[in-house]
Amino acid sequence: MAIEQTLILIKPDGAFRKLTGLTIDRLDATGLEMVGAKMVCVTEKLARDHYASLSDKPFFEGLIKYIRGEFHGIKDHRILALVYRGENAIKAVRAVAGATNPEQAVPGTIRGSFGRITTTQQFENVIHASSDPTDAAREVALWFKKDEIIP
Ligand code: UDP
Ligand code: MG
Repeated sequence: MAIEQTLILIKPDGAFRKLTGLTIDRLDATGLEMVGAKMVCVTEKLARDHYASLSDKPFFEGLIKYIRGEFHGIKDHRILALVYRGENAIKAVRAVAGATNPEQAVPGTIRGSFGRITTTQQFENVIHASSDPTDAAREVALWFKKDEIIP
């Protein structure tokens, strides 16, 4: 089995609804190890770089506003970014996160329990979790410097 690292962001709806602790509990219950954690100010550039592969989607501009906390009044666009490491970490975190669409996410997953679809069709789904090894490597390097992650 592969030892992987994966990037998690507690999205602005998660912070706004005070779900940070609960989300970390669920992540810790996977048995994976937290090896990076910091509050980050999500600049316009960071948001667009992070979601670059979705730039042609109709929901992209709303997604940039969402991840920068503009729908939840988040001060300084701050967000908690985490790196978890362990066997099959990417899939393990996606499993506790649940499906992208909160209406399709299994009840009991983070998104299934706490996600919502707004009247503007934005999926507010509490966390970001890297989706595959290529994305995970790119995203961890985008959000964290090497020396900010426990070796
Ligand atoms: N998203 C949305 N509407 C959609 C698809 C995605 O609002 O139809 C948002 C949602 O917040 C999602 C993010 O865009 O988490 C990134 O989309 P992706 O397909 O990468 O889903 P994820 O990897 O987060 O499950
Ligand atoms: Mg994704």
